[in-house]
Amino acid sequence: MNTFVYEIDDNLYINLTNECSNRCEFCVRTMKDDYEGYDLWLENEPSAEDVLALISEDKQYASVVFCGFGEPTARFDVLKKIAVALKGRYKLRLNTNGQGNLINGRDITAEVALLFDEVNVSLNASTAEKYDDICHSVYGKAAFGAVVEFGKSCAKKGVKTHFSVVDCIGPEEVEACRVLSFQSRVLFRVRKFITG
Ligand code: SF4
Repeated sequence: MNTFVYEIDDNLYINLTNECSNRCEFCVRTMKDDYEGYDLWLENEPSAEDVLALISEDKQYASVVFCGFGEPTARFDVLKKIAVALKGRYKLRLNTNGQGNLINGRDITAEVALLFDEVNVSLNASTAEKYDDICHSVYGKAAFGAVVEFGKSCAKKGVKTHFSVVDCIGPEEVEACRVLSFQSRVLFRVRKFITG
């Protein structure tokens, strides 16, 4: 069964695709069949209408988050259509690997800044080499610079933007990422590693 939307705590999450330009070693997809009790592997990708039909007008959420197992900006047109329909009704957050400009072949950050209240970019590492070692992007070592630029660009356009890392990268790398975030004028967050 397709899980296009799911709830955790008081947030609603939107799952648009299985596709991702990374193959991160710590990705929950590689460790378990379900996430927080939800089977997020999609048999087919939803349209904007499929998703909007599942969001009840009466229900309140702290945030609506574009997340899921795959990379939401891989379906940027659908994502935008949904975000436009929900804007003003909910606080909107984008959880992304920061490769949306590469994936879409153009700079999408102005549209992201217009639609979203908050953006969380998975930074994951402090250098292109370390990023490539753990994230294995289809864009190779070019991915990291694009990820950093994506976060910087969203922050510069006025969106509340975080770079995030998973604590399993070790304390020295966490600190190096904190410094990079500070230098990039992007907020910083450390997430707990989820074990399967
Ligand atoms: S960017 Fe996210 S969804 Fe993609 S492989 Fe890495 S952890 Fe998984």
